[in-house]
Amino acid sequence: MIERYMYQDIIQFKMGRAVNNQVLYWAAVYLVDGLLIDTGPAHTAHELLEELRREKVEKAVNTHYHEDHIGGNALLQRELGIEIFAPVKSIERIAAKPALYPYQELVWGCPEPSRPNPLGKEVRTGKYRFEVIETPGHSDDHVVFWLPEKGWLFTGDLFVSETPKTARPEDNQGEIIKSLQKVYHLRPQVLFTGLGNIVEEATGTLARTILYLERIRDQVNRFKAQGLTPAQMVREIFGRESTLKEFTQGQFSSENFIRSFDR
Ligand SMILES: [Zn+2]
Repeated sequence: MIERYMYQDIIQFKMGRAVNNQVLYWAAVYLVDGLLIDTGPAHTAHELLEELRREKVEKAVNTHYHEDHIGGNALLQRELGIEIFAPVKSIERIAAKPALYPYQELVWGCPEPSRPNPLGKEVRTGKYRFEVIETPGHSDDHVVFWLPEKGWLFTGDLFVSETPKTARPEDNQGEIIKSLQKVYHLRPQVLFTGLGNIVEEATGTLARTILYLERIRDQVNRFKAQGLTPAQMVREIFGRESTLKEFTQGQFSSENFIRSFDR
């Protein structure tokens, strides 16, 4: 399933695999002045291609190597003849067939390998000059795209929500907090997220997210000094483990969120 929204001159394509007419998990890509930011999951790559055939697309970029951000790369490269750029650290991972968990195969599908070009420090389109800003933490290769003249920040998965409660084993909250601080100092006006949220009170939202994460980090440090295990900390802080844990074979969990403060 794919939905299309306009925000000034940006087209947002929000997509996800639907089971019984319910989308399992949304992913969003953005088309700005011929630049496609992320290519979505493999399951929706053909739907996205059909939408993009009606648009002017000159190139695409990936924020990081995760399967829900690169799944259209190979098809779009082949069918639209566009060049794709990704962070240097992502390239070999995107070029290989990933080993996915069953929930990843179900929700997003396995991306066909592709070989993007390395991203530089900026990406130019006809009208705009996007700065590429390194923002590790969600993954070690993660970047965001910043358009200073508009105050627009395309955040990939750096910002998911103001109060996240789960994480993958790969997340490193110390790095995420540093990356959020880095983009907070840009004073962005609008966040365009990989999940599809468009957040207009951007700088205030980032400030509240950083405070929330710092408060949890302090709690985790206090509980650690008292000898609590991560599972005990989950009960103290959130009351219970997230239902996502079982569905994602233990990958997205509050316990992993707690552990991610200790990397
Ligand atoms: Zn991700």
